[in-house]
Amino acid sequence: MSAIIKQIEMGKTNAYLIKSEKGYILVDAGMPGESDKIEKVLVENNISLKDIQLIIITHVHYDHVGSLSVLKDKTGAAVLVHEKEKEFLEKGKTDFPEGTVFISKLISKLSNLISESKFKAVNPDITIKDNYDLKQYGVNGEIIHTPGHTRGSISVIINGEDIICGDTLFNFMPHSVYPPFANDKKQLIKSWKKIEKYNCKRFYPGHGSIFTKEKFIKTLAKKAKKLDA
Ligand SMILES: [Zn+2]
Ligand SMILES: [Zn+2]
Repeated sequence: MSAIIKQIEMGKTNAYLIKSEKGYILVDAGMPGESDKIEKVLVENNISLKDIQLIIITHVHYDHVGSLSVLKDKTGAAVLVHEKEKEFLEKGKTDFPEGTVFISKLISKLSNLISESKFKAVNPDITIKDNYDLKQYGVNGEIIHTPGHTRGSISVIINGEDIICGDTLFNFMPHSVYPPFANDKKQLIKSWKKIEKYNCKRFYPGHGSIFTKEKFIKTLAKKAKKLDA
């Protein structure tokens, strides 16, 4: 069972394509108005919209679900989300998480004010609570619950080596993969420790470029020390 992960860069956010034995799985769906960027990558790779069987949403923030409604209609794919995010997806709105540093605290406040956090509501087909096996989709992989950035954040592990982690890890800065926003910072580090146990080699974040285990381990060591102090 092989699964190739293709990164779709869409300005601010990444989406990923997983090749399965039966078709494709899309992880995340970009900002509003970005479905054409995903469709372009599909065309370039000779993939039809109908080949997408499942759309996994790492968490319900507008920059990851903005084009979900359009893509769900065009692909007919089932949409999977954690049960703690379901309500936000159905409402088409999320409260922005709290900032972890001063500047993001400010952005968080402003974002809620200008309601940039709105997107077209979608009713999910599958909601999960904890681990979810992707074998039925022809993929050697599983979904794990990694709360912290949001309560229902999930990550997708493929072949025990690659992890698509949404905003649980951010790759914006040279020496850290700590996200600028988190609803629960303690829980976030707990989830990082959970991820550490899977010993994945490559990390595929919702923002920034793909990075290796070393960068994750270094940031985790720094943050865990701070929490213990
Ligand atoms: Zn994001
Ligand atoms: Zn987010």
